[in-house]
Amino acid sequence: MTTMVKAEQVCKSFGALQVLKGVTLEVQRGQVMCIVGPSGSGKSTFLRCINHLEQVNAGRLYVDGDLIGYRERGGKLHEISPKDAAKQRREIGMVFQHFNLFPHRTALENIVEAPMQVKGVKRDAAVKKARELLDRVGLSPKAEAYPAQLSGGQQQRVAIARALAMEPKLMLFDEPTSALDPELVGEVLAVMKQLAGEGMTMLVVTHEMGFAREVADELVFMDGGVIVESGNPREVLSNPKHERTQAFLSKVM
Ligand code: ADP
Ligand code: MG
Repeated sequence: MTTMVKAEQVCKSFGALQVLKGVTLEVQRGQVMCIVGPSGSGKSTFLRCINHLEQVNAGRLYVDGDLIGYRERGGKLHEISPKDAAKQRREIGMVFQHFNLFPHRTALENIVEAPMQVKGVKRDAAVKKARELLDRVGLSPKAEAYPAQLSGGQQQRVAIARALAMEPKLMLFDEPTSALDPELVGEVLAVMKQLAGEGMTMLVVTHEMGFAREVADELVFMDGGVIVESGNPREVLSNPKHERTQAFLSKVM
């Protein structure tokens, strides 16, 4: 097994507010890690550090062996250029709570945008791939629909297809179902489960404990900017060792 994500003592502050206080973890290629924890514990910030949407104050993050956001010279870290950061980010798909589709573009046009603009993929090839992806997320008939004509669950599935169009080696999900009506959550989780089954490496911040139990290889409980507890999801969920994990789980389950 090879390591896809490696975080070493990652620290991040916003002014005086210390949000990440030394986060260390590893995700192996093809594995799914779920991160759970109370609001404000630093989960989103951690995901944003992985694709260098945030600078870290200390520690290191590697994706597939590449140091993210910095170059090391003579033992010192120098931030890479925005252009190089964007290049690293291309290989990391991110799906947010709010789907952020272009409202004036169809589902298909939303998906072909980045491959054509960023990777220079020819339109025919991009469209062919987009149709395959729409099929994979169960939305073939919606290729020509605009976001406003789609349900939240459908929009989120388009957003997943859009991220996959860049052929990422890692997918980050930040509460992808939190903004959805309850009856639409399942269809998005089903797509994510299928993606996991196909071998995608995934880091998923979620409150869906059923998904975590069924799909994740490892569950991490984060609170106050540190990993409080981690392990096999079934074990952590049925027998949490730390009192903060117990308190959190008793609220959400
Ligand atoms: P979570 O995703 O676990 O709910 P976040 O990572 O979003 O937590 O936030 C952790 C803490 O960092 C919160 O207190 C939040 O208010 C703060 N925070 C997040 N982003 C910023 C920012 N850009 N500037 C200042 N504070 C921020
Ligand atoms: Mg968050």
